[in-house]
Amino acid sequence: MTSKRYCIYCGRVVHRCDCHLADSRLQQFLRRNGQGSYQPAQRDRPYKRGVPPQIKRRERTTLQKHYAAWYAQLVDDYGEQCLHCGATEHLVIDHIIPLAKGGLSAYDNLQLLCRDCNSLKGKLVFDCR
Ligand SMILES: [Zn+2]
Ligand SMILES: [Zn+2]
Repeated sequence: MTSKRYCIYCGRVVHRCDCHLADSRLQQFLRRNGQGSYQPAQRDRPYKRGVPPQIKRRERTTLQKHYAAWYAQLVDDYGEQCLHCGATEHLVIDHIIPLAKGGLSAYDNLQLLCRDCNSLKGKLVFDCR
């Protein structure tokens, strides 16, 4: 029995994945700290697609409630800087596995990124820790 392979970054079926292309968000993101190109890894189960609005709302409330504590904890553990490019301004809490891909608002799934890196990362799954 063969199963489909899915890109771990964009969540698409592998033959639809364009993460290896030079202008993909993954490559743009990697280029920021000079890691060069990266061949996306694969997983054998698809990500859940989309987030039901009630879960989105609940996650946002959870995040707001714990924001200060998590932020302080992240600064303690990794320093007050973007874990990707080292910028120290406009930091935001980023979901390593995005909510849209089934990630949770839990400390293990969070990292500090600057606004720029966060927007390039988009819905990629990328752990900078
Ligand atoms: Zn991909
Ligand atoms: Zn950054």
